[in-house]
Amino acid sequence: MPAPQCASCRKARAALRRPRSGQALCGTCFCAAFEAEVLHTVVAGRLLPPGAVVAVGASGGKDSTVLAHVLRELAPRLAISLHLVAVDEGIGGYRDAALAAVRRQAARWELPLTVVAYAELFGGWTMDAVARSTAGSGRSRSCCTFCGVLRRRALEEGARRVGATHVVTGHNADDMAETVLMNFLRGDAGRLARGGGLGSPGEGGALPRCRPLQLASQKEVVLYAHFRRLDYFSEECVYAPEAFRGHARELLKLLEAARPSAVLDLVHSAERLALAPAARPPPPGACSRCGALASRALCQACALLDGLNRGRPRLAIGKGRRGLDEEGPPGRRGPQPSGPPASEPIPGF
Ligand code: SF4
Ligand code: ZN
Repeated sequence: MPAPQCASCRKARAALRRPRSGQALCGTCFCAAFEAEVLHTVVAGRLLPPGAVVAVGASGGKDSTVLAHVLRELAPRLAISLHLVAVDEGIGGYRDAALAAVRRQAARWELPLTVVAYAELFGGWTMDAVARSTAGSGRSRSCCTFCGVLRRRALEEGARRVGATHVVTGHNADDMAETVLMNFLRGDAGRLARGGGLGSPGEGGALPRCRPLQLASQKEVVLYAHFRRLDYFSEECVYAPEAFRGHARELLKLLEAARPSAVLDLVHSAERLALAPAARPPPPGACSRCGALASRALCQACALLDGLNRGRPRLAIGKGRRGLDEEGPPGRRGPQPSGPPASEPIPGF
């Protein structure tokens, strides 16, 4: 059966059905709609004011690649300037190839790029060294949690170095829904309380952060990358674990099959969540070592580095002794084929 006409331009043949709405669109109209929705997210949420210098956390993966591309398209209308900031975690055989993808993007899009490395920022610690240190301690599954804490700090540092006023990351709706589910399942009121909204306004001197793709589904991010023929890196990190996030992901798939709006409903639930006064975490103070926001004497990054330097890797985050040692990285959907975006499965007719 021939593909139907595009429901928007009514000229071209439709190339896809939008996963949520079922609307049949050609590739050009889909990309225009996707960009308009991100623009609406940014404008309605007042995420990036005119004149903002925006540090885009660039990993070379599809989410940050799509984010950088869309923001570059929207930059003149938003009156913002962009600077790619990539973090080199020090993961042999993985990050070098991903950074090469970021360098190609920066060159093609003529965007400035700054790379900050864990080894330089954190007294020689790389993720490979952290993984060796945690192996056998019962914490080896927690690489992604260590990495997430350090990457947040590294991205902030990189953004400050380039004079950014705002930081954006490529988390999409599926990532956010998984995180909300994990926090619910762990009963982590502190993270639930902080996790809503489209970002953080920049408490405690931190730069404001936001996630302009937070309402875009994973499937549509892949579709956008396909139709824009974006070059991104899609191999899985060697430390992507068999982790708790994987259970949340599987559960989310089941929920979505029964109720297609489950992903966005979860994201919006977190935005509207109101915790009872007794369940609210105490207001954070300042880390006694670096001054960053902290709910204990040391912030997560300083406590984590402290433990590593003492030879006692431990998690300084999460609830009590359980910690968050099973977090897992967002945006990973199991092993993915490397190669051009054209190899992604595209829903057709
Ligand atoms: Fe870091 Fe985990 Fe992502 Fe690897 S998969 S880069 S260890 S957060
Ligand atoms: Zn600190």
